[in-house]
Amino acid sequence: MTKIFDFTKNINENELKEAAKSIKDGNLVIFPTETVYGIGANALNSKAVDNIFVAKGRANDNPLIVHISDFYMLDNLVQNISDIERKLMDAFMPGPFTLILKKREIIPDNVSANLDTVGIRMPNNKIAHDLIETSGVPIAAPSANLSSKPSGTKIDDIKDEFLNKVDIIIDGGDSFVGLESTVVKVIDNIPTILRPGKITPEDITEIIGSCKLSNNLFTKADGIVESPGMKYKHYAPNNKCILVYSDSNNLLLELIKENIIDNTLIIGSVENKDKFNCKYLSYGSKVNLDEISHNIFSLLREADRYNPDLIIIEGVKKEGLGIAIMNRLIRASSYNYIEK
Ligand code: AMP
Ligand code: MG
Repeated sequence: MTKIFDFTKNINENELKEAAKSIKDGNLVIFPTETVYGIGANALNSKAVDNIFVAKGRANDNPLIVHISDFYMLDNLVQNISDIERKLMDAFMPGPFTLILKKREIIPDNVSANLDTVGIRMPNNKIAHDLIETSGVPIAAPSANLSSKPSGTKIDDIKDEFLNKVDIIIDGGDSFVGLESTVVKVIDNIPTILRPGKITPEDITEIIGSCKLSNNLFTKADGIVESPGMKYKHYAPNNKCILVYSDSNNLLLELIKENIIDNTLIIGSVENKDKFNCKYLSYGSKVNLDEISHNIFSLLREADRYNPDLIIIEGVKKEGLGIAIMNRLIRASSYNYIEK
């Protein structure tokens, strides 16, 4: 039986201690972070980590991110940190940012999927921070969703998928950011974004003076990739999706109209809400990318509940946070993407 701890109003110290002990004892605990919910296990216990892969149905060549509460945990886990890497960590940790670093032996091979690197993140969420600190161990945690599905950002979606598959679920309310962390690896002294997120290329360039986007952020990856997660089906609703975008709203409306079939559901901006004769789920204003990122994963799940024959999603400009939103939506729609 999964225990549910409600920390939406305040952290209950006894329950926090129980959750921390559960992690330490090798169990799975789902906890909130500022990005999305994580399904966590003691990162130094490879058996416990195995259970994450089983619960999610995750491919074992897709490595996990290790979450720390404070910098004192870092030196035990990674080595050879460069000046650029330190600057990035000083600037963006705690926060929605993951840095790929050279791992030490102590990190089990299943955490890093046999790579010699490991992704390190320090969440900026009090519940996550206190859970890691109280357990006294780093926590390996991928997003709390079944593999290939949209990441979990609302407690009801989490319960649907993981009730009685984990020891404890901590309810911290809806995820604030709503998209997973920006994953960065410094390659040849240049910070390279392997997965875009709330921390944008501009944010990184401001600190380091340079930043690259990895290939395959908007296209299908084949063969050897920098980030194994790029290869997999991801964020996808059960029903068929098409993603459409144009800089011109008129062309965008045309594109949507051309693709509508019987029983189509549209996910799009509040500005375009009354333009079609279909079920319409609004993700918020076109000009508020924070609002869109906050809502998008739960809307992809909500769309499925109507069981439409087609979901048409209105895209956004691939700029700033829009890069991360489009990276997720292009995958959610299995690369069915039309731009005019
Ligand atoms: P998730 O935990 O489900 O949000 O996914 C974690 C993402 O980080 C995946 O796309 C991984 O491919 C990526 N990642 C984790 N560790 C590494 C690593 N050592 N090298 C490259 N990418 C990584
Ligand atoms: Mg994930």
